Amino acid sequence: MSALTIRNLTKTYANGVHALKGIDLQVEKGDFFALLGPNGAGKSTTIGVISSLVNKTAGDVSIFGHSLDTQRALAKMKIGVVPQEFNFNQFEKVFDIVVTQAGFYGIPVPLARERAEKYLRQLGLWEKRDKQSRTLSGGMKRRLMIARALVHEPELLILDEPTAGVDIELRRSMWDFLTRINGEGKTIILTTHYLEEAESLCRHIAIIDHGIIVENTDMKSLLEKL
Ligand code: ADP
Ligand code: ADP
Repeated sequence: MSALTIRNLTKTYANGVHALKGIDLQVEKGDFFALLGPNGAGKSTTIGVISSLVNKTAGDVSIFGHSLDTQRALAKMKIGVVPQEFNFNQFEKVFDIVVTQAGFYGIPVPLARERAEKYLRQLGLWEKRDKQSRTLSGGMKRRLMIARALVHEPELLILDEPTAGVDIELRRSMWDFLTRINGEGKTIILTTHYLEEAESLCRHIAIIDHGIIVENTDMKSLLEKL
């Protein structure tokens, strides 16, 4: 079964912009998949639809076989999303942010606290657990978004431009972290406008431009073509 199947997905925003013009994508379980494209191509819109933040205009999306139209709650349990913008409560403490998120998935508090510790430690944020999120650096906030997206242990992790504006050292450590959890079996999809990032990490790649998938292949074949 595929982790993600998208069929003929279109999105036209209220202002008339045709952000997605009928895209098809399939991502297999265990894959590390890049959606590459320039600014304005439709990457965030695609992620928005998959994560139920943007209403699609037409088409079908299913996540581990659960349709977003008919089994949205089940589909949402399967995915963790790391958006581009920080959207934390600025005054909530780091530990509480992750525990609160677990609550949205009905995870009992003792388990939520255990998971929060596990992922904050893995992402190097355990020392910051009692700090308000507004005191964190940009790189720390980004890692906190990853910890928060993992707390319900989704099978599919989706990251929108995870290393945009991140310095080279943190980029490396985020790449290592993502490679490690993919090795442990998590399916990962990320968007990026850097071919280098896709090349370093991903096994499959789709290139999107003006709301159309213009290439969809394994990384090796793409690099041979370039
Ligand atoms: P829906 O997702 O229900 O179709 P929209 O996202 O189209 O609703 O509506 C949000 C509003 O925000 C629109 O009026 C749109 O003009 C505006 N907006 C937000 N982001 C952008 C953007 N990147 N480009 C143009 N307009 C934007
Ligand atoms: P990317 O993530 O690849 O930069 P987006 O999905 O953000 O691309 O944007 C695709 C197109 O849709 C762009 O033309 C953008 O301006 C437009 N757009 C994005 N969000 C909105 C919105 N809320 N309302 C209207 N237009 C939008």
